[in-house]
Amino acid sequence: MNKVGFVYSDIFLKHLPDGWHPERPERLKAILQAMKNASLWEKVIHIEPIRAGYEYIQMAHEPAYVERIKGATVGYLDPDTYFSDGSLEAALYAVGAVIEGIKRCKEGGLRRVFAAVRPPGHHATSNRAMGFCIFNNVAVGARYAQMLGYRKVFIIDFDVHHGNGTEDIFYTDDKVFYFSTHQYPHYPGTGSRDSRGSGKGEGYTYNIPMPPGADDKEYEKAYNEILHELVSDFGPDIILVSAGYDLRAEDPLAHISVTSEGIRRIVRGILTAKEGVPVVFTLEGGYNLEALAESVCVTIEEMLVI
Ligand SMILES: [Zn+2]
Repeated sequence: MNKVGFVYSDIFLKHLPDGWHPERPERLKAILQAMKNASLWEKVIHIEPIRAGYEYIQMAHEPAYVERIKGATVGYLDPDTYFSDGSLEAALYAVGAVIEGIKRCKEGGLRRVFAAVRPPGHHATSNRAMGFCIFNNVAVGARYAQMLGYRKVFIIDFDVHHGNGTEDIFYTDDKVFYFSTHQYPHYPGTGSRDSRGSGKGEGYTYNIPMPPGADDKEYEKAYNEILHELVSDFGPDIILVSAGYDLRAEDPLAHISVTSEGIRRIVRGILTAKEGVPVVFTLEGGYNLEALAESVCVTIEEMLVI
């Protein structure tokens, strides 16, 4: 069985909406409970996240934006993104969870890590909070990985929404590849097939828009054929995954019909894309608690054996 690192802290529960919101602490509680019920809790290596320093946050965000978030008051940062008393700490630790996961791969010999964090990150651009996201956890993680010596980073984003923030941050970069499958057209509106990167980053962004109703079949092709070719051509030193589980049929925020077996096939596709490289998953969306928790368990089951 593989060693699988699981990064989590109760600090992530302190990012609290005022009233009902789909991106709520219960998401993480459901994941933890399901892992315990499935006897996965005792099979993973538990890792405490660090509090990411602002010097790390600024590897993917403009200093003026970081200052704005440091000084933010309780309320909404954009029409969807709330900010509570505990949000800044949760957001710093969410980035720190990805950083610590990557560090354990580099220095601790791990090859499989899952960071169960809130708030999510992939809609956050270098200067804007958006779509429930404050800091772009995976984007900072990619820059941190490069700092540790992982030269080429391949980001895979299977959240049902396009990761506009991540795409934007690396759009002109030829050392960080951004691959995304997402419902299209849908929030946030970006992610057409024509968006392929620009300048020296041309060809290093790859979007697979999925029509409403797309199911396991379409995802099988994306993750077991197309992804494998792209990874093999790019030759990454590490793979970072924006793992959003709102592509499940049960999810209230989208219309893709992936099943639990489909999630298993996607995760297998990712884990077999290149032998020997570390793979760090970071939680993004997923708003049906049962489907979310089950999907994370399926992901960890596969990480333990592949
Ligand atoms: Zn999403």
